[in-house]
Amino acid sequence: ANTLLAIDELDVAFTIGGKQYPALRQLSFEVREKERVGIVGESGCGKSLTSLSVMGLLPESAAITRGQISLAGKTLSAGLREEWHSTRGRQVAMIFQDPMTALNPLMPVGKQIAEMALTHLAVTRKEAKQMALEMMAKVGLSRIEQLYGEYPHRLSGGMMQRMMIAMALICQPKLLIADEPTTALDVTIQAQILALLREMNRSTGTAMLFISHDLGVIREVCERVIVMYAGFIVEDAPVQDILENPKHPYTAALLQALPSVEKRGQALYTIPGRVPPLTERGGGCPFAGRCPRAFGICHTITPELDTGMDGHRVRCHLYVEGRLCG
Ligand code: SF4
Ligand code: MG
Repeated sequence: ANTLLAIDELDVAFTIGGKQYPALRQLSFEVREKERVGIVGESGCGKSLTSLSVMGLLPESAAITRGQISLAGKTLSAGLREEWHSTRGRQVAMIFQDPMTALNPLMPVGKQIAEMALTHLAVTRKEAKQMALEMMAKVGLSRIEQLYGEYPHRLSGGMMQRMMIAMALICQPKLLIADEPTTALDVTIQAQILALLREMNRSTGTAMLFISHDLGVIREVCERVIVMYAGFIVEDAPVQDILENPKHPYTAALLQALPSVEKRGQALYTIPGRVPPLTERGGGCPFAGRCPRAFGICHTITPELDTGMDGHRVRCHLYVEGRLCG
């Protein structure tokens, strides 16, 4: 399939007290049309910042300092933040962990979905309402005529997230970014929303960039997963490959921390230490401070993102051309 999103050597930095702190470093990856790609990592690794960069929604204190983002043939380079919002248009939509932050509490939810179509598509008010109702049915909501007129606070978390998905997809974006969309939901509802996202990807062909701290959730939805640590991509491979053959010590630790049937009854492993804050990042491998396998050069030289024969990418001094060495 064709490349839809291409991020090329992107650096994003925060300016705090006149000093620049790099938050995304040498970020390069692609999402192909219709592909479902996950980004995983602990909080503070740059997952959300990556999605905000693609959306053109970086906070005031952050900026692209190098590299570029291309989406469906349009390009955003360092210093061009203003234009991006209109240029990317409705090619990309986003859903968040908390739907309430994206909804107007004073307007019926169905109407908010219709408004989205009215604003972006050449349709009449009546057509927009019809489209909204159809979309609501498509995302598995029932009693849609009645639901159309309900206010957000009357809906459960699961219903609200279905509404958000309907709103995000009504203009048929090429890419849907989902940032921890099920983190606030209980396990049963979470499974339903994940199944819905897979189904919507199949039926609409919308590609997905799915962001989560939970590899177990990513595994349910995505075909490929990108592992981020302290602003860097440290591994990128098909999900199955990552699960069966994790190469980076950080990925291995994330997997070890994943609950499973075999580990039932055992105390859950947690990765010792913490992601270094922006102001405390130096040279060397970003994971060196927590890595059980760190050795000499890890503390001084930042490893390159090395691509193996099979396309599996890993950023670790233990690998050369995808093969374990030393
Ligand atoms: Fe660990 Fe060194 Fe590999 Fe970094 S480069 S992950 S510190 S072994
Ligand atoms: Mg986040």
